[in-house]
Amino acid sequence: MLDHPTLTRRSFLVLTGTAAALTLVPTRALGAMTRVRASTILPWTELSEGIHAIADLSLGGNTMVVADGPGVLLVDTKFAHLAYALVADAHTLSSGESSLTLVNTHHHGDHTSGNGFIVPNASKSYAHKNAIPRIEAQLDRMKLGAQGGPAQVGRMKDADPRLLELAAKAADESDALTTNDIAPHSSIGSNETITIGATKVELHHFGAGHTDNDVVVHLPDRNVLHTGDLVFNTLHPFFDPEGGYSAKGWIVSLKHTRELCDSDTIVIPGHGPIGDRASIDAQIRYLESIIDEVQRAIDSGKSKEETQAMSWGFMDGLGFEQIRERAIGAVYDELSK
Ligand SMILES: [Zn+2]
Repeated sequence: MLDHPTLTRRSFLVLTGTAAALTLVPTRALGAMTRVRASTILPWTELSEGIHAIADLSLGGNTMVVADGPGVLLVDTKFAHLAYALVADAHTLSSGESSLTLVNTHHHGDHTSGNGFIVPNASKSYAHKNAIPRIEAQLDRMKLGAQGGPAQVGRMKDADPRLLELAAKAADESDALTTNDIAPHSSIGSNETITIGATKVELHHFGAGHTDNDVVVHLPDRNVLHTGDLVFNTLHPFFDPEGGYSAKGWIVSLKHTRELCDSDTIVIPGHGPIGDRASIDAQIRYLESIIDEVQRAIDSGKSKEETQAMSWGFMDGLGFEQIRERAIGAVYDELSK
């Protein structure tokens, strides 16, 4: 979600701190899915056999692990200080020293900042072709993030003691990072199919949406989707004009993503609780509503600032309130072009 020059570390901490304090109601009854392995470092939820996710607002973008035989897939790498813990957990959740494949859903730092400590150790790594130069441009920011990692772990409540050790290792190694370490080595166009063990994984890019490089990760035989930040479940979405976003294109991408679902599909959003296809429908409704309301404000002669001060019923009760004005402003600019 976060990778914008005007969004400082302080505003990030405020954002995540407030969001973490919210009580979010999962749209999907987790029940039997909430089984966390005692030996893992981070709070994984097993969604179905071999498929695990972290959907915790304080730990960056939602991450997925798919373990099948000798293969393990990691989707997104959160922040640098969590990277080595992600790798250790990915191997724990699979059968041991597995062959690791990495996919980034898009370039934003809360989904890619762990890359530098994972890409060099992955047998394969993928991102959309537009994501690669954007990730490379984040090198200095990723180094700084890694160097601040141990302090960040120190502020976490109930963190596994192993996490501090792994964050310190990433901080020590951060100076030597290069663009070749942080950017995935294989680029994706519109579609790519890979396999993890016997599990088929389809990677789809449906055009500009949340960014110009969104990838949806679909496991058709397991009926699981990771949407990246195309879906913010029960949260205001993050709009990033510098990242090539398009509100109208975002809706198109979501409608294509929705076609991959049936009533049983497990949907892992970029942020917020694990959901189902209703969380995609809700994101489409949000985007259609904000476009309609902002267009109405423009038509009635309201300024951008006046429009940003407005709120509408479809926004009620959503987390990430701090980025509501940003969302309205970005749509205002897009519709005023
Ligand atoms: Zn994002």
